Amino acid sequence: MNSEIFDVVIVGSGFAGLGMAIKLQQEGRRRFVVLEKEGDVGGTWLVNHYPGCACDVQSHLYSFSFRHNPHWTRTFSPQPEILSYLQDCVVAYDLADRIRFRTELSEARFDEASACWQLRTADGQQLRARALVSGMGGLSRPAVPDFAGLDEFQGVRFHSQQWDHAVDLKGKRVAVIGTGASAIQLVPQLTRQVASLDLYQRTPPWVLSKPDYRVAPIWRRLFARVPLIQSVFRSAIYWFLEARAGAFTRFPAVLRLMQPLARRHIAKQIRDPALVEKLTPSYTLGCKRVLMANDYYPALDQDHVAVHSGGVQGIGARGVIGADGVERPVDVIVLATGFAATEPLPPGAVIGRNGVDIVDAWKDTGPEAFLGTTVAGFPNLYILAGPNTGLGHSSMVFMIESQIAYVMDALRQRDRCGADGLDLKPEVQRGYNARLQKTMRRTVWATGGCHSWYMDGSGKNVALWPNYTWQFRLATRRLRLKHYHLLWRQSATTATSGQPQGAKA
Ligand code: NAP
Repeated sequence: MNSEIFDVVIVGSGFAGLGMAIKLQQEGRRRFVVLEKEGDVGGTWLVNHYPGCACDVQSHLYSFSFRHNPHWTRTFSPQPEILSYLQDCVVAYDLADRIRFRTELSEARFDEASACWQLRTADGQQLRARALVSGMGGLSRPAVPDFAGLDEFQGVRFHSQQWDHAVDLKGKRVAVIGTGASAIQLVPQLTRQVASLDLYQRTPPWVLSKPDYRVAPIWRRLFARVPLIQSVFRSAIYWFLEARAGAFTRFPAVLRLMQPLARRHIAKQIRDPALVEKLTPSYTLGCKRVLMANDYYPALDQDHVAVHSGGVQGIGARGVIGADGVERPVDVIVLATGFAATEPLPPGAVIGRNGVDIVDAWKDTGPEAFLGTTVAGFPNLYILAGPNTGLGHSSMVFMIESQIAYVMDALRQRDRCGADGLDLKPEVQRGYNARLQKTMRRTVWATGGCHSWYMDGSGKNVALWPNYTWQFRLATRRLRLKHYHLLWRQSATTATSGQPQGAKA
């Protein structure tokens, strides 16, 4: 096959893809390319631009450890600022020439003979990669429920991630389906302009107040002049959030102690006792993602806003049919129904050894990897933000940076021992995931009495890391060759010991 060959091909240019590209560039590994299906960088922070879109993790932590931004204007920055931060990274690290925009990966297939990934893009490019890094993220594909009659609806509808800013919502009747992290940010914005808003809630979220403040210019100047102060501030946020991890992963009873605080937040902001009742969750705080907002409850406590419990029965030609069977006419339906989070890679996209689709490899177990990053039978594939790397309490950028360090070490060790590929040993993957799922049993996500998007169809939590994030950092600091079979091109010889002659573990 006549195709370009790269040492590393990265797919996606959000925090994961860009972070990987920066580290490769810094280490002088210049034979890499980033494939990005959109026309700009940013990943989730490019494609999510619904009104009110912002981060619910403090910006001074939700950013690269190696590129502090002293100019964050708020403690929790809005989407445009995060996007612009990522765009600035491209300039600062001179990555523009490395990124191929509007280039969507359609298939990656592992070739035994060359121990390379053969890639095809939607526009017909053919590339080969000695290592393939997925920075596609777990929350990139919108989940649109199969509501009966959805296609019959005669008004306008779109998913929160595909916001159509051309639709003027002023004075319109709008329905929002879903009450997750996206909905609680966009609903308050919508209530300011629409004639009426019907919110369809299947399960109420726990919503706490958000300590979202403007960062005073004096602090911004100080951060710019004395970076150490920002480092200290960042560390303080990290350890403050990390202190909560034990409650989620080991002692859910602590979270139950916090529920009265959350109930007070509802009671302070909602006058109608029936609405308070409707909005109060019955599961343990933390079982689903804990949300933060100061304007969500006040937005619901208005005459032109109605909350309908019990989910949705279907969609009619004129509106949404609630659990009570009543069709309420609307002009616009916003589907804030989340993402296909338990399918980190789409079917047909990644085909490993012996022609096995990664989706099929996960058929019996659900998505699983070793350290959320490598998968047996898929040599030299590294999944950033992969299975069980998600967090309920801190910054994903921390997890992504840990994984990037692991990938860099994998490349170094592969080169040092002269192999062409590293294929995770299946027993390592099995043992790791058995231990991880055992740990998962005591977490609030398993014991809190809810069903969340963290779980796959069988109820297995395939999304979250059930420990402290520093434990993940330690575990990913160094790749151990003994966990891998080493591969060589042509004969694709396998050294089952993971210790070829001359190789150092
Ligand atoms: P989500 O949290 O998965 O919420 C989806 C909502 O849609 C839930 O309320 C769900 O109800 C509802 N829903 C789904 N299918 C439904 C159906 N068939 N009928 C009725 N209701 C249905 O999605 P999201 O709000 O887009 O957030 C996803 C994740 O993205 C977050 O958890 C977070 O990790 C990330 N995010 C982060 C930020 C941030 O600030 N960092 C902002 C937005 C999103 P149930 O609860 O009953 O399932």
